[in-house]
Amino acid sequence: MSKNVIVIGGGAAGIEAAGQLAMAGYPVIIIEKGQEIGGHLLDWYHLFPDRRNSVEVVSYLNDIAENRNISILKNRQTEKIERNKGNFHLRTSAGDEIEAGAIVVATGFDLFRSEKKEEYGYGIYDNVITSADLEKMFRAGDILLKNGKAPSKIGLVHCVGSRDEKSGNLYCSKLCCVTAVKQAIELREKLPSSKVFCFYMDMRMGGAHYEELYLEAQEKHAVSFIRGKVSEVGVAHNGSLVIKAEDTLAGRPIRIELDMLVLMAGMEMSEGGRKISSDLHLSTGSNRFFSSIDNHYGSNLSNENGVFYAGTCTAPMSIPETISHARAAATEVIRYMKNTGK
Ligand code: SF4
Repeated sequence: MSKNVIVIGGGAAGIEAAGQLAMAGYPVIIIEKGQEIGGHLLDWYHLFPDRRNSVEVVSYLNDIAENRNISILKNRQTEKIERNKGNFHLRTSAGDEIEAGAIVVATGFDLFRSEKKEEYGYGIYDNVITSADLEKMFRAGDILLKNGKAPSKIGLVHCVGSRDEKSGNLYCSKLCCVTAVKQAIELREKLPSSKVFCFYMDMRMGGAHYEELYLEAQEKHAVSFIRGKVSEVGVAHNGSLVIKAEDTLAGRPIRIELDMLVLMAGMEMSEGGRKISSDLHLSTGSNRFFSSIDNHYGSNLSNENGVFYAGTCTAPMSIPETISHARAAATEVIRYMKNTGK
């Protein structure tokens, strides 16, 4: 029986779970598809609601990864996973062969591919960007249009690829409203003479201090919140983006010209997660995320003995929720290893 634990994914969930297991004395092997650990945090600038620099959280994860019980195999995907009596046998894309007593799936999420919503013009019109593109601009220090000028009118479209039958995603991604509010504030701070508009269906600000951030955006930064769904994006003769929407509070159609449009892309089950779900016969829900055996007191438990879930591979979660979920996953793994004599 192997005491090893394999963690698939080196984002916040994978590293946190690995750290807890390593501290409990288990050798942990992390399989990470990228060159660095940190997952989506590596692409983000400031985090909500306190606008802490994501670099600080990545540095926390790097400190955890220093534990001598943790080995990280980077630039690798899982090629094949099989059960071998009480153990798992995993082969990576680089040919590593690993035996382990348990597996933690921490494959995270992929951002919805915004080009699938053709009506918003991502990949068609210059200056239609995603929330992730905007974070890259924040990190680079400049918010610029394709012509090199600073935008003066910017719109943010909520619910891109979420709560949308056409995209096949009926669920709410939970965190894009607060991301939009955070980004709107940062845009107003970086470009004080700009006007910023958020086009929303409902404002879902369900986390600690999210509502306060929303009030700050309105009262201190004069961000305009328009309740309405954008139906179409085009380009005017002068090169501006033309947005058509329905203001559902005022009950009238609106047409507005903007310099830049930011699409708040939702979260989806990751491609890596889909592959593992088929290799290990793991159940997924109608939202295609992994479904645990019990939503109330078993959210880390899969339908396969010895396979556990950590983080956003099960549902959209914030960073603090992800860290807590990963710690709970480690507790479940330790219980399982002890019960099975590993
Ligand atoms: S969090 Fe807000 S933007 Fe994201 S899907 Fe839910 S309602 Fe839409």
